[in-house]
Amino acid sequence: MHLSSRVKGVSESITMQLNDKAAALAEEGRMVYNLSAGQLPVKPPQDFIDKLHQQLNFLKSYQYAPVAGVGELRKKILTHHARERRLGPAGEGLDVLLSNGSKQSIYIALGALIDPGDEVILLAPYWVSYPEMVKFWGGIPLTVKSNVFDAYGPSLEDIGRLITPRTRAIIINSPNNPAGVHYPATWMRGLADLVKQHPDLWLLSDEVYAELAYFDPQPSWFYQEDAALLERTLVFGAISKCLAATGLRLGWTIAPPSVVQAMGRIQGQATSGASALIQRALVEYDFAGIPPFLEPVKAHLRRASDLVRAKLREADLHNVWYQSHSAFYFMLDFSRTPVFARFQSEDGLDKSKEICQEILERHGVLLVPGGDFGLPNSARMSLTMEEVPFQEALSRVVKYLQDR
Ligand code: PMP
Repeated sequence: MHLSSRVKGVSESITMQLNDKAAALAEEGRMVYNLSAGQLPVKPPQDFIDKLHQQLNFLKSYQYAPVAGVGELRKKILTHHARERRLGPAGEGLDVLLSNGSKQSIYIALGALIDPGDEVILLAPYWVSYPEMVKFWGGIPLTVKSNVFDAYGPSLEDIGRLITPRTRAIIINSPNNPAGVHYPATWMRGLADLVKQHPDLWLLSDEVYAELAYFDPQPSWFYQEDAALLERTLVFGAISKCLAATGLRLGWTIAPPSVVQAMGRIQGQATSGASALIQRALVEYDFAGIPPFLEPVKAHLRRASDLVRAKLREADLHNVWYQSHSAFYFMLDFSRTPVFARFQSEDGLDKSKEICQEILERHGVLLVPGGDFGLPNSARMSLTMEEVPFQEALSRVVKYLQDR
């Protein structure tokens, strides 16, 4: 039977394939350390859980929410964002659309902004779903690369060189999945200066890890340099990471009203409004509870990040890492490790998948291959696991990387 050419163009997730393999190994009785997690292994704050319980008693929690979301929550998110980013009155002209997770927000945003053939600039390493989403709407993803030597901060000159009249948007994800870094304030200032020269460019700022920076300096964003940029900026956020609630599916877009309306038209016909129950609980929940909730989480990530750095240094594995300081991840670049000698080939093709497969099969540690993030010959390691098993998993990976 016929399947659309559109769907044939969408890549299947390598992560899913490796997850299946990990599950099969675990079933055989092998010890498997899963360092692929993109979520926290804790429940949301009790206060938020209590609000969910309370809202279970109301009929409205079970009925359709407005397509764009519950008005009170939209206002609350707007005010919260303006306060957190110190936007002042600049934040007042914006609107909010609530969706089933920020993944949906980004997806429908691209649907509302790009026409087939339009180019969208991605900054590698990037979140795996961006290129697939761009292609799904007929757009063309273009990539600006970065690596461990530039602390995973893509060069502004390279970005500038890629911008042409065909460029519709640029996606910025800071703090970054998978690099585990946020771009420095000087970079954000430079980006603001650059995009000011290109007034037709949409700026998509994926900020789902904004609250998860565990080393100073704290993150900043380009539109804080010049609030006029908010007139063509879409900010994406979610409760997934900051409230440890990936499964509840609630994300948002903060954008100019015309964009929110356009996205709402797609959402209204595709999925309707996001869960009424979750939205109503969030109306009642005090966002001031987020920083204290995340304090122990950040302390854990800080310790784990320090531990990885210490282990890699001790093992003389240099130039293969840049220490993470935000989000849940630490990137390992295999291309300068002893083990890579076995994988180096004439074709120069990405070997992330093969290497991750071998690490899983031989040492029972599941990492996410970096090729899909636009960083060949690398892997993403999650820092969320408890310290004792994490130390063991890390020792296994390090030992593997040292062996020729
Ligand atoms: N952006 C980034 C960078 C992410 O890592 C994720 C989740 N892994 C999302 C967006 C989507 O998150 P959600 O749909 O759960 O809000």
